[in-house]
Amino acid sequence: MPELAEVEWFRKQWDAGRGGEIVDLSLHARNRVFRGENVQELRKRLIGAKLLHSSARGKRMLFKFSGDNWLGIHLGMTGKIRVESANYRPANHDHLVLFQRDRALVFTDSRQFGRVRFHHGVDEPDWWRSETPEINSSKFDQKFVDQFLDRHWKAPIKAALLMQSGFPGIGNWMADEILWRAKVLPSRRIRKLTARERAAILRATKFVVRRSLETLGQDFSDPPRNWLIHQKWKRSGICPIHRTPVRHATVAGRTTAWCPRCQK
Ligand SMILES: [Zn+2]
Repeated sequence: MPELAEVEWFRKQWDAGRGGEIVDLSLHARNRVFRGENVQELRKRLIGAKLLHSSARGKRMLFKFSGDNWLGIHLGMTGKIRVESANYRPANHDHLVLFQRDRALVFTDSRQFGRVRFHHGVDEPDWWRSETPEINSSKFDQKFVDQFLDRHWKAPIKAALLMQSGFPGIGNWMADEILWRAKVLPSRRIRKLTARERAAILRATKFVVRRSLETLGQDFSDPPRNWLIHQKWKRSGICPIHRTPVRHATVAGRTTAWCPRCQK
């Protein structure tokens, strides 16, 4: 499932079409990705509009078009965004294709857990607003993290890291990477964390997000070689620090990897 850095990379794919007018579009009106949306209005308003700019927030993206039109995309499990040539013929899973004179902007999603939303209005859509600060902003600080963790004091720390209302954009692999760096077991109960461990979790979260955006988010290149992610899915995966075999179990409903020597 795409997490923050992958989402950022996908968002930028449509930058090629900035300033370009939508001259036609193709969509699968009855597909699940459009649940609850007025696709007639989307079609009517987007044709003739220009793509202006976009932004990402956690795992969500927002594309602004001229004429006060907004398109929100959530990639879900298997959603992807890419650019094709102007004479592209949409395939089965290309649920939304925006044609410009020189290219086609494609949203594809084989498993349809993604979502496309449309809004027409001067202000950004209600569904885009969020009380949760972005991790790479200064508002995402120890005070915010502590208050969030205190509200979920019964949960294992891995579960809290997966909550988008606290750690927007973090998913399964980033959560494991963060806890490995912070030297905290994924199954540790939040109420048992020390102030030092909470500080380590905040530090590791900021670091993993920043370095992921610099690698994956820039050009889809791999995170640094010495990260846990490269070992996580291997049967014989080892801790990048001292080569202890990595352990696996289900924590918070997700396959989780950790180093029994690093993490307590
Ligand atoms: Zn280790």
